[in-house]
Amino acid sequence: MPQSPFVVSVGHLLRAPGDRCKEVRSGPLAGLAVTASAVPEDAEVTVAVTLDAVPGGVVATGRVTAPWVGPCRRCLAEASGTIAAEVREVFEEEHDPEQTYPIHGDRLDLEPLARDTVLLELPLAPLCREDCAGICPMCGTDRNMAPCRCVEAPKDPRWADLDALSEN
Ligand SMILES: [Zn+2]
Ligand SMILES: [Zn+2]
Repeated sequence: MPQSPFVVSVGHLLRAPGDRCKEVRSGPLAGLAVTASAVPEDAEVTVAVTLDAVPGGVVATGRVTAPWVGPCRRCLAEASGTIAAEVREVFEEEHDPEQTYPIHGDRLDLEPLARDTVLLELPLAPLCREDCAGICPMCGTDRNMAPCRCVEAPKDPRWADLDALSEN
């Protein structure tokens, strides 16, 4: 079995607290999806981190990036973008599953960190572009392509909060 690109040897760091090194690891990770968006199966997820040796472990500080695709919530056309999330996580030889990631022997695996980060960052309400005009709920015209003559219905107040939440 080929070794995962996300597995990093850190034996040298474990023996020298205070040392640091940089690692950039990329590879496809299957199954990264939420209801409204997903990382394409063949796309690369990249973890670029500085590893700092501390007593009993390693602190990984850096960035996780990955492309995503999903249907626009307003017009249903394919929307896409890039996740770029800052991370700072601790890997420990005696790890606490609630708080830190494990070090096995002299190696740590950045894949769980990549997965957790991407799943948190995938958009739940993607937009093809910020000002997408959407599909008219009355006549079905894609208002990005052509205006329609329908009178805008008052916004259902139950959706207003959700809309405000998903704007960012
Ligand atoms: Zn759209
Ligand atoms: Zn219309």
